[in-house]
Amino acid sequence: MVATRESEAASGTAQQVDVAVVGAGFAGLYLLHRLRKAGFKAIALDEAGDVGGTWYWNRYPGARCDIQTIDYSYTFDPELETAWTWSEKYATQPEILRYLGFVADRYDLRRDIRFNTKVRAATWDETTERWQLTTDNGAHVSCRHYIMATGCLSAPKPPEIDGVKDFEGKVYFTGRWPHDGVDFAGKRVAVIGTGSSAIQSIPLIAEQAAHLTVFQRTPNFALPAHNGPAPSDRMDLFQSDRAAYREQARQSMAGVPYPQQTVVSWQLSDAERRERFERAWAAGDLVHILTQLWADQAVDVDGNRIVQDLIREKIRAAVKDPETAAALTPHDHPFGAKRPCLDTNYYATYNRPNVTLVNLRQEPIKAITAGGITTAKRNVDVDVIVFATGFDAMTGAIRAVHPITGRSGKSLTDVWAQGPQTYLGLTVEGFPNFFMITGPGSPSVLSNMAVSIEQHVDWVVDRLKALRDAGFTTIEPTETAQAGWGRHMADCSMVTLHRLANTWYTGANVPGKVQGLMPYTGGVGPYRSICDEVTSRGMLGFKLT
Ligand code: FAD
Repeated sequence: MVATRESEAASGTAQQVDVAVVGAGFAGLYLLHRLRKAGFKAIALDEAGDVGGTWYWNRYPGARCDIQTIDYSYTFDPELETAWTWSEKYATQPEILRYLGFVADRYDLRRDIRFNTKVRAATWDETTERWQLTTDNGAHVSCRHYIMATGCLSAPKPPEIDGVKDFEGKVYFTGRWPHDGVDFAGKRVAVIGTGSSAIQSIPLIAEQAAHLTVFQRTPNFALPAHNGPAPSDRMDLFQSDRAAYREQARQSMAGVPYPQQTVVSWQLSDAERRERFERAWAAGDLVHILTQLWADQAVDVDGNRIVQDLIREKIRAAVKDPETAAALTPHDHPFGAKRPCLDTNYYATYNRPNVTLVNLRQEPIKAITAGGITTAKRNVDVDVIVFATGFDAMTGAIRAVHPITGRSGKSLTDVWAQGPQTYLGLTVEGFPNFFMITGPGSPSVLSNMAVSIEQHVDWVVDRLKALRDAGFTTIEPTETAQAGWGRHMADCSMVTLHRLANTWYTGANVPGKVQGLMPYTGGVGPYRSICDEVTSRGMLGFKLT
C-alpha cells in the first residue's frame, strides 16, 4: 500500500477512490467506518501524525471535554459502548485520545488514513464528475465525493500582536501543543486569552510557574466542573436503558439527554430560582445550567439576566481582590450567548500570590518585545508566552483549503465572500458531491458534537448509498433551498440571545471575518427531523443527476 502511494505521488497519478474524507477526528473516523461498511472505497487524509483531531492537537495542561464523557462518546455500536469505560465525569485529553485510538484499532481504520498529509486544494472536474484533491506532499486523490470532516475548532487563530517573532523566549499555542509537554517550573509565564483553553490551563500553569500573568480582553462566564467519577444519577439513568438514553440525546436541543424546561423565570419565587441555580451550580454541568434552570433563560433578556447576576455573585465570592473580581466578571453578553466554560479552580487561581491579571480593556497590548509584553501601562518580562487565543471557528479549516473550485470554475471563497451559505450546513450550491460534517448552518458547536457528528455522518452515508443504488452520480442543493435555509437560520437566531454577543460563533474574534451567526440555533432534535424530512420528501431541495 505504502509503495503504491509513493509511486503514485512520484508519478503524479492520482489515487482513485469513491470517497475522500479530510480529517481523522471524531467525524473522519466514523465516516471511514460507515463508508467502508456501505461498500465504498474510501480514504481519509489528515495533516496530523495520527488519529484524534481536536484531541491530537490540544494537549495543553488541563485539556478536557466539557460535555460529560458518558455523553461525549460514539453511540453507533452498542458493543463499543460496553467495551470502553470512562474513568471520569470529564475525561482528560489523553484519555479521549486513547479512546479515539481504541476506536481506530477496533475497526482497523488506520490502514486507510494518510497521515501527515494536508489537503491544499480541491477541484470539481465536470467531465469526469469527480473531485481532484492536491496535497502538500505531492499525493493526488481523485474521488467521486469529497467530504470535509475538518473540524469546527481546528484552525488556530494566528496572534494579532506585533513583535511575536522578536520574542526571545518560548512561544506555545494551546491548539498546537508539543507532544512531550512543557515544563513551566521556575518560569515567568504569560497566558494571552481567557477562553475555554485558557480557563482549563491557567490553574495548572499557575501551580508550576514562578509567576503567571494572564492577559484578558473579554471575560467569560465559567462554571465549576466538580470533576470526579461519573455522577451516579446520570450513570443509573444510562445503565437502566441505554437505547432510550441515547435516543433522548438525539431528540434533545443540545444533544444531551435533558428534558425541555417549561417553567419560566417569573413563575418562580426568588427562593425557588436560587434553589434551582444552586443545584445546577453544584451539579457541575454546563448543559444542566444552560437548559434546566428556567425555560426563558436562553430566549429572553430578563430571564437570562437573573442567571448572569447569580453567576456574578459566585465570581465575587471566589476572587478576593475586588478589582480582579470585577475585571473577571462578564457584562457584555447574555449567559450562553457565548460558549461558557467549565473550570477547575479557575477563579480561585487569581487568589494566588504568583498570579496577576492584566485587563486589556484598560491597558491594551502595544507590542511583544524580546523580553516580554508591553501594554499601555507596563512592561511584563516573561520567559514563556502561551497563546490561548482560540480558533478561526467553523469556516477556518474549510477556507484554508484554497481554492475549492466547484461547477463552472466557482470558488468557495467567492461564494462565501459575504459569509458561509449552505443548505443544512452540509452542502453548497454549485459544489456537487461536496459535504461538510458539522459545517456552518448546522447545530455543530451549539451541541454535544459527538451526537451531531453521528447524525451528519449517518445522513450523508445513507444518502450516498441511496444515490449509488438508484444509479445517480451527483447530488447538489438548489439555489432556492440554500436561500431558504439561510432565511430559516436567520429566523431561528432572532428567537435566541446569540445575536446579542460578538463571539467566535459570529466570527467576531477574527479581524476582517464577515460577521454572522454560523451555527444553527434551532436545536439538535428539530434539525434531525428537518434532515429526515428532506429525505422522506424525495431529497427536497437537492438536484440529483
Ligand atoms: P476535529 O477533531 O477538529 O478533526 C479535524 C481534523 O481535520 C484535524 O485532525 C485536522 O488536522 C484535520 N484537517 C483539517 N484541515 C485539513 C486539511 N486541509 N488537510 C488535512 N487534514 C486537515 N465538543 C463537544 O461536543 N464537547 C466537548 O466537551 C468539547 N471539548 C472541546 C475541547 C477543546 C479543547 C476543543 C478545541 C474542542 C472541543 N470540542 C468539544 C469540539 C471538538 O472539536 C469536537 O467535539 C470534535 O472533536 C470535532 O471532531 P471533528 O472530527 O469534526 O474535527
